Amino acid sequence: MLTVARKHDTTETNNRCEEKKMDGSKGLETLSAEVRKFISTPKKILIDGQWVNSKSGETFEVYNPATGEVIAHAQSSNKEDVDLAVKAARRAFDDHSVWRKMLPSERGRIVSRIGDLILKYADELAQLESLDNGKPISVARAADVVLSADLFHYMSGFATKLEGQTLALSVPFTPGAEYHAYTKREPIGVVGQIIPWNFPLLMAAWKLGPALTCGCTIVLKPAEETPLTAIRLGEICMEAGLPNGVLNIVTGFGETTGAPLAGHPGVDKVAFTGSTEVGKLIVKAASNDLKKLSLELGGKSPNIILNDADLERTIPGAASAIFFNGGQCCAAGSRLYIQEGVYDEVIEGIAKYAKAMKIGPGLDPTTELGPMVSQIQMEKVTGYITSGKDEGASAASGGGRHGNEGYFVQPTVMVNTKDTMKVVQEEIFGPVVVATKFKDLDDELVRRANDSVFGLASGIWTQDISKAHKLAGRIRAGTVWVNCYNIFDASMPFGGFKQSGWGREMGAAVLNNYLENKSVCVML
Ligand code: NDP
Repeated sequence: MLTVARKHDTTETNNRCEEKKMDGSKGLETLSAEVRKFISTPKKILIDGQWVNSKSGETFEVYNPATGEVIAHAQSSNKEDVDLAVKAARRAFDDHSVWRKMLPSERGRIVSRIGDLILKYADELAQLESLDNGKPISVARAADVVLSADLFHYMSGFATKLEGQTLALSVPFTPGAEYHAYTKREPIGVVGQIIPWNFPLLMAAWKLGPALTCGCTIVLKPAEETPLTAIRLGEICMEAGLPNGVLNIVTGFGETTGAPLAGHPGVDKVAFTGSTEVGKLIVKAASNDLKKLSLELGGKSPNIILNDADLERTIPGAASAIFFNGGQCCAAGSRLYIQEGVYDEVIEGIAKYAKAMKIGPGLDPTTELGPMVSQIQMEKVTGYITSGKDEGASAASGGGRHGNEGYFVQPTVMVNTKDTMKVVQEEIFGPVVVATKFKDLDDELVRRANDSVFGLASGIWTQDISKAHKLAGRIRAGTVWVNCYNIFDASMPFGGFKQSGWGREMGAAVLNNYLENKSVCVML
């Protein structure tokens, strides 16, 4: 078996890991017997209902971001494995008897059973997610796992409601003819789904739930940093009764697994969540044969606090808007616009909140802020903090790495910022918020809030309902939260304006990503 280097392997990491003997056991005492067994069993890829090794036999290391130690090895799939996975998905789609001709109610029951099983294995999934991604286990339990189950349960109901319309035709050139015309909604086909590492289980659920409900077949590629819960979810899907080939899972790297999947001629549609930069590569890869695409990309979301906001609710709300999931959240409220009457109080309050946060390994139940997912992500985030300081900003709290083991970054509030600074313009994807002041709720504030290539989410904090609704109408973003933030629900569509993406996840809107409309016209 050959182990290949991951994108963030550096000499420094390798040396450090060697010194630690890489036994991967540190801090893992709280893991259940099931999770220990799962991580100690060689991980495989899922092709046509079978768990197999990649053709090359190569694997890559999966790290615990709280310690930098290796906890598992995953298969490094390449073009050949992707091809086998796509062919299996194609067969399962084209053979009508397997999946598409299943009664919609039965398909819905399988999707719903996946939700039931996620709840059955909730604790195991929460532990795995926390171990692999670094997020606090309390968050994994309360948010990631429960929302994933909810998504499958919510979507399952649509299996019996994928309805078309009857049409009243007025064809001018066939006088006297009568028609029976109607539309049908049919699955789009074989779908390649490529997901990131920030909510590994939930992003898999967002993608799989609607695609399965619509009758598509799938090749899923999880992020190289966090393949474990996707593999466990694959086992759960098979236990729920998915026919072979309907779901295939290939683990590996972006260039060698993701790119061949995005460009594969047997794939009808690609659904991608991740960086805007890679989103653009996916567009290029899919353009060869004009695959359908949905993209959920980056954000730099404005969070606006007015003078009349209820600060007892606003300060923890705005802090959580950025520090939740260590800021590794595409919707994070990362640009704070604070009206000048409450600016000092809000900055002081958020900085105090940040300083009081309990930073530690995700598996510690008292942890509030876990590590960044990887060394490269930690270096990226601390690099942004340095760049902000170099351009004249300062830190009201935090301002650098936390400790010298694992990939921790201090929750950081940057003040004295200018709209042109890199830290204000670019997605940092870490626990770093940039704060700025405004005088009046006017066109200039709206211009500044919308001054971004992104348009994913936004927040407004005020007790004046008219101001809230007027402002909500002027922010160019897919979601506006008022007096709350990071509220996600299976029923509420989520996605971006501008370079934050194409299409929507969740709600009834997501079904459009996975369905074709067909018109049938019958002359009577
Ligand atoms: P990426 O966008 O690179 O990763 C998302 C997924 O795309 C992963 O599964 C990745 O594989 C895959 N991928 C990478 N390159 C290609 C390619 N050429 N073709 C097809 N698939 C590909 O995000 P990163 O993990 O590299 O993070 C980089 C930055 O992106 C972060 O710092 C953050 O700013 C942003 N990001 C934004 C997210 C969002 O939801 N908006 C989510 C995650 C990151 P693999 O990881 O295995 O290489």
